[in-house]
Amino acid sequence: MMAARFYEPGVIRLEKMEIPEISSDELLVRNHAVLTCGTDLKMYLRGHRLARPPLIIGHEFAGTIEKVGKDVRNFEVGMNVVSANSAPCMSCYYCRIGKHNLCDRLDEVLIGFSSPGAYAEYVRLPDRIVRQNTYRIPEGLSFEEAAFLEPFACVVHGGELANISPGDLVFVIGAGPIGLLHTQLAKAHGAGTVVVADTSPDRLRMAGELGADKTLNATEDPVREVKGLSDGRGADIVIEAAGKPETWHLAVQATRKGGTTVLFGGCPSGSTASIDTEAVHYGELTLRGAFHHTPRDVFRALQLISSHQVNVAPLITHRMPLSDVEKALRLMQNGKAIKVALSP
Ligand SMILES: [Zn+2]
Ligand SMILES: [Zn+2]
Repeated sequence: MMAARFYEPGVIRLEKMEIPEISSDELLVRNHAVLTCGTDLKMYLRGHRLARPPLIIGHEFAGTIEKVGKDVRNFEVGMNVVSANSAPCMSCYYCRIGKHNLCDRLDEVLIGFSSPGAYAEYVRLPDRIVRQNTYRIPEGLSFEEAAFLEPFACVVHGGELANISPGDLVFVIGAGPIGLLHTQLAKAHGAGTVVVADTSPDRLRMAGELGADKTLNATEDPVREVKGLSDGRGADIVIEAAGKPETWHLAVQATRKGGTTVLFGGCPSGSTASIDTEAVHYGELTLRGAFHHTPRDVFRALQLISSHQVNVAPLITHRMPLSDVEKALRLMQNGKAIKVALSP
């Protein structure tokens, strides 16, 4: 099979490889759609602490079952499936207290990191993922749409922590793929007004098309704008989806007293953000970090995508063959693409 392997920052090579072998409790999937992700871009530019190159990267994918391990139930050859990139161990401390997204052993079975990824014609689904986080693709859902399952499951997780009440003013910082998914999910949760800030006019236009009630240029004092929409209070819920220390700071500034700030975007490792202590203390803000997803989030994400309550297809701005993977990642880097669908 052809696979795109990451060697070191800036080096991905397209190579001919053996089709993966599977064990008795695993699945082999022939990929039909693989999506680029910000994490792939970070890996390409800087490497990743969990990656042991050479490694096939890519973890947002959907395809058709090619082989089924003899002990696997509920799946058969020819079935169209999608899976998350990980699954919890169900036995560590965090799994036992129900925080499956914080599982201490997620790294052990992580497609695109510790397990070969999906920038390839075939991908092996490890047993833990087969058992907990693999689904048949429902009728009416394309492979490309289904491949949003993993990133959207993370958004569903963050959306739950945001705890949006009907009518809320929700401020989303960042209109990349994650911010655009949060925008739609906030609407689905009954938000009254969703305001989105970004620096890219193209992305803001898309946010408007996907349901944002108002879009703001992030360079023009968006906090003042948000306060202006709420009698000077600030947003009920702020979702930070840009992943920069400055925007973490901004997120707190834009939250009203008693409101919730969801810090969703991961900043570069080692970074620290300054937080207005008075705003947090006297304003009784709830600050929530948000990371990854649980099997329940994955299940709910599939329901929301397949019922088209959240419309993921417009987020794919480019399509190209797997051999153009580096071109695709550069389009992501330059902010020209939201998501690129690669066909292996
Ligand atoms: Zn991803
Ligand atoms: Zn665990």
